[in-house]
Amino acid sequence: MRRVDAVVIGGGMAGLVAAWQFTREGLTPVLLESRGYTGGLVAASKIAGVAYDIGAEGWAVRRPETAELAAELGLDVEFPRPAPSWVWFDDGPFAMPSRAILGIPADLSDSDVVAALGAGEAEKAARLDGAPLPDELPPDLGSLVEQRMGTTVLERLVAPIAGGIHAADPHLLATEVVSPGLLDAVRRAGSLAGGVALVKGDGAPKPPVASVAGGMFRMPQVLHEQISAADGQVLTRTGARALERDGEGWVVRAAATVRNENPSLPPVPCGEPVDLAAARVVIACSAGPARRLLGGVVDVSGPELVPGAPIAHVNLAVRAPELDAGPRGNGMLVARGSQQVSAKALTHLSAKWPSLTADCRARSEGLHLLRVSYGRSGEAEVELSVGQAMADASTLLGVELAADRLVDHQIIHWSGALAPTTPAARAWVQGLHEQLSAVPGIGLTGAWASGSGIAALVPHARDTARRLA
Ligand SMILES: Cc1cc2nc3c(=O)[nH]c(=O)nc-3n(C[C@H](O)[C@H](O)[C@H](O)COP(=O)(O)OP(=O)(O)OC[C@H]3O[C@@H](n4cnc5c(N)ncnc54)[C@H](O)[C@@H]3O)c2cc1C
Repeated sequence: MRRVDAVVIGGGMAGLVAAWQFTREGLTPVLLESRGYTGGLVAASKIAGVAYDIGAEGWAVRRPETAELAAELGLDVEFPRPAPSWVWFDDGPFAMPSRAILGIPADLSDSDVVAALGAGEAEKAARLDGAPLPDELPPDLGSLVEQRMGTTVLERLVAPIAGGIHAADPHLLATEVVSPGLLDAVRRAGSLAGGVALVKGDGAPKPPVASVAGGMFRMPQVLHEQISAADGQVLTRTGARALERDGEGWVVRAAATVRNENPSLPPVPCGEPVDLAAARVVIACSAGPARRLLGGVVDVSGPELVPGAPIAHVNLAVRAPELDAGPRGNGMLVARGSQQVSAKALTHLSAKWPSLTADCRARSEGLHLLRVSYGRSGEAEVELSVGQAMADASTLLGVELAADRLVDHQIIHWSGALAPTTPAARAWVQGLHEQLSAVPGIGLTGAWASGSGIAALVPHARDTARRLA
């Protein structure tokens, strides 16, 4: 048995941040990652010779900690080009209201809201939201919007945005998780629009997201490098298979893994297990394996977790100088039920991120990177084809992209990666944290265990490691 300071299970952003924080506390952790690379859902590839993010592109700026971490790592932060998101409906595309949270407007009389809904529907929504608040607000986003502003606001503004960001129906999303503080602001303001306005604050709208200049993928890369430089050990292709109490500490049983035949499924264990003994262990892997590892430690019974959508991207590098002006802002979300487009979203990556714009220009004039996204929650896996993606991109961007414009392409699957946090899952996770707070030397972190996305997991993973150090 090998004795180490700390074991961190899972080498996505959460595990890397926790292991990095341990090194800042003077400890030398061992990080176990069952795949062949660290970073998890933050991952890089190259298309037409340009390095770019194939997973998460950035973080929500509603909290400051991720930008603070970037600064500590010596990374520059960049913001997307200021431009609205667009939404595609078959009756015509429109730019999303700029003063809004997840599509919920801060003022239903704003001109971009009226343009999106029509004057009659905007007035109807305002009347609904003018009614006194009930004693209890519904905990899920879909019911909240439906109750306060009606189905048109839900379907035309909120469902496309929530579907795009969280890959889920708004009725499956706990409002407190996807927009922390909004419910409280609604209660203080006395209306949903008023609550959104309170959270957004006064002044010029700020970009809701940020990233690392040069690509989000640089953050896990630098975390990995700095952990190794501080004598921490990062073991890829090594999965944790079991976790047991060992007196005051823990034993983690680890084993080598090999690639699954289907690379979008988790790797498969192989070889003889090795035991690692440590006073501290942080579980930072995905929800399914974490539940299995914690089964002998606390009561893990709880709700069936809702599977994540069958997300897949067809990433295109095209030569199209007509796209230099970014005709549809930084991208478009497609409303459900479109007969003209089978994609659910398009991101104009090379228009959105200034460093990517520069990298593409340096490579070749008129080169553009587009991410065409497929796979909505509750739908079966869709058949992907580059021809379909080129056709969808042409319709969405309003620019004919013939086959000879294609320079390179990549098809990326992220099936099940973004499981929605339902109100029941949130309560279950809170229960796990409560039980674990009574158990010494163990912490649980990761996007599913700390709130939504990178903005929430960074401070949570750092606090988890600090508490155990
Ligand atoms: C396409 C896409 C776009 C996204 N865009 C954004 C965005 O713009 N902003 C944002 O905030 N978030 C975004 N996200 C979500 C964000 O990427 C995740 O919330 C975050 O990266 C999750 O990090 P994590 O470390 O918690 O989990 P993961 O990245 O899932 O890492 C968990 C790791 O644990 C490993 N593991 C599992 N079991 C074991 C085991 N038994 N032993 C060892 N290792 C194990 C897995 O291989 C994995 O690497 C996006 C996600 C996707 C897929």
